[in-house]
Amino acid sequence: MSSVTVRSVEPIILRYPEPNDFNNMRMTVLVRLETSAGGAGWGEGIAMWPEACRATAAIIAEGFAPLIVGHPIGEIDAAWWKLKRHAWWYGEGGIASFAHSAIDMALWDAWGQELGQPLCNLLGGRVQQHLPANATMHVNKATLDENIAEIAGHIAAGFRSVKLGLGKRGLAQIGPEVDSVVDFIAAVRGALGPVPGIMVDIGNGIRWDPAQAIRAAQALEAQGVSWIEEPLYPADLEGYRRLRAATRLPIASGEREWTVEGYKRLLASETVDVFGIDPGRAEGVTGFRAVTRLIEAAHRQVNAHAFSTAITTAASLHLSVATPASRIFELKPHASPMQHELVRTPVWHEDGAVFAPAGPGLGIEVDERVVARYRVG
Ligand SMILES: [Mg+2]
Repeated sequence: MSSVTVRSVEPIILRYPEPNDFNNMRMTVLVRLETSAGGAGWGEGIAMWPEACRATAAIIAEGFAPLIVGHPIGEIDAAWWKLKRHAWWYGEGGIASFAHSAIDMALWDAWGQELGQPLCNLLGGRVQQHLPANATMHVNKATLDENIAEIAGHIAAGFRSVKLGLGKRGLAQIGPEVDSVVDFIAAVRGALGPVPGIMVDIGNGIRWDPAQAIRAAQALEAQGVSWIEEPLYPADLEGYRRLRAATRLPIASGEREWTVEGYKRLLASETVDVFGIDPGRAEGVTGFRAVTRLIEAAHRQVNAHAFSTAITTAASLHLSVATPASRIFELKPHASPMQHELVRTPVWHEDGAVFAPAGPGLGIEVDERVVARYRVG
């Protein structure tokens, strides 16, 4: 057993423009974890809101770092429980989970580097060699023609499927009326033909009741859509039960869950087919893996929600190839600072196939000059 321990844990708050979100300024919290052997691991907690980022950084620096400095980097389960138990009063989800996730991810990265093994090998190896690349985009252009041209462009560039986020920032006038969503997807389907997969993500800007969600899901099922995501408020399990009974269209949800226990309850509700999980939110790599085991056993689908930096994308990708339960891998299709500048070799696809990085740990090389350029705290 290696005697390498954690020497320091530093939270870093970044603020950056996101071309995949109408050039909105977004924020996140990174963790840089140094080891006694001189190595460094990176992690991320995707707190996004300014005040949530500051709170996450405070929990990391004041609450968690003192507990984890000196801890052997390979004893990751022990570290995970130590942090979770420390935060028992204010944790079990919420801001503490961002901090927990970031440190856990950084430990896995550091441990993989120490062993000279990619994260997916530490998770038991590649159950799948690669996954089909999905372009995860926000539909935000003013006109139908512009939106269809963008979607067709992603398919032409090699993406095998598209996930269309509706009700997001921008100029599009799609939703909240059910008919406007159904008409738009019909137009996209008409333009792309029957082959590429289309997933429809009902964003926070569209608030439907169960009757509206049922009407939309039935129409989208008839159009051959692959899944509908969060058509109802995630906690409205009774609404989801009604929806589930009224359509065979797969239902995706879960990306706003925080804990392994939360996913266990969601799974037991029998309302979700595709479980969104984010290792930068749901108790880290360790949490994601634990949730994945539950979902594998239930023969449902896991889908990594990776819409922040290349650090979380890399973690999500290793986790996704290490399970039979994931079927696609989501990438942000437009080049962006946090995907294409932050690391020296961005995570991308090869002719529509996404492979986990081969290097040790997360397999990414973070450019610290870029970290410094976007750092605000
Ligand atoms: Mg989503």
